[in-house]
Amino acid sequence: MNEQESDGRSNMSETIAFIGLGAMGLPMASNLVRKGFAVVGFDLDRGKLDTLVGLGARAAGSVAEAVTGATIVVTMLPAPPHVRGVVLGGEGVLANLPGGSLVIDMSTVDPQTTDDVAAACKERGVAFVDAPVGRLVSHAERGESLFMVGASDEGFARAEPLLQAMGTTIHRCGPEGSGTRMKIVNNYLAVIGAQLTAEAILLGTKLGLPVDVMKAVSGGTTATNGQFQVNFATKVLKGDTAPGFTIDLAHKDLMLALAAAAQQRLGLPVGLAAAGALGAARGGVYATRDFSALLDYACDVAGVVPPRLPD
Ligand code: NAD
Repeated sequence: MNEQESDGRSNMSETIAFIGLGAMGLPMASNLVRKGFAVVGFDLDRGKLDTLVGLGARAAGSVAEAVTGATIVVTMLPAPPHVRGVVLGGEGVLANLPGGSLVIDMSTVDPQTTDDVAAACKERGVAFVDAPVGRLVSHAERGESLFMVGASDEGFARAEPLLQAMGTTIHRCGPEGSGTRMKIVNNYLAVIGAQLTAEAILLGTKLGLPVDVMKAVSGGTTATNGQFQVNFATKVLKGDTAPGFTIDLAHKDLMLALAAAAQQRLGLPVGLAAAGALGAARGGVYATRDFSALLDYACDVAGVVPPRLPD
């Protein structure tokens, strides 16, 4: 696996269709526009499209319109059914994209979806790269995302200028499909880490410990983790539970990991326990809150006032 840092190069000869302008897609596409790429955006939510157009992108009224004339299509969609529908559907990307183009799927999906999309692209003479995204929305806004890339050498060379414009860290994980597989493993750790962090802070709060003390002490031992130190510290512990990455999507990623494990005849007992907690949390108002709000949900259930870091 290679790690490469951004050197600011870009390929302005490509026309990029960017489909899916949500919490992640909009800041990522915005960075492409700001760095001089020709971008045509499409999202079912017109408001998000208007924001991108305000930066200088063109708006499309459908997937078909977005990809017509594009040489590279980027998809940043919620879950496997959205990616299958948008890329493989009758009015979708592949029905309207000429051979020689490139599809980069940056959504977090299951390996089978990535493999099916890659095979359908190959059949039509379209190159395919899976490049799911690591880190938080705040990183995407600053152009500091991390990418886990599955690609041939040719596909990677063409995708690289876009990745450099949207992030700082690129990991080549192997051939097509390996980015998706890595992302599932990464988010297994991240989502379980969030649930574990919520439970630890709940316990400490009930034992009378200030959360800043818990953060400082655990941050200096091998108990440290990015959920407490980075995610919780900048989101829920500051009273900000706007997504970010929703509990609903975190639950989706945990289920992707559990399904992959079941297919491999692996038991993931901690993951199964966490799925119970996240499954319950997404039953109500918490579904659309940031996944660091797993802390507030755990406190709700226990009848504890959720702690916050001092300003
Ligand atoms: P989101 O729900 O905020 O955004 C998804 C967008 O896709 C929405 O704007 C929605 O309107 C649009 N969309 C859905 N179906 C569409 C269709 N058929 N055509 C056009 N647009 C459509 O989700 P997000 O948080 O931006 O996440 C996107 C992907 O990135 C997910 O797979 C997620 O797991 C992954 N991810 C998210 C984060 C994060 O912190 N939010 C971080 C890394 C990876």
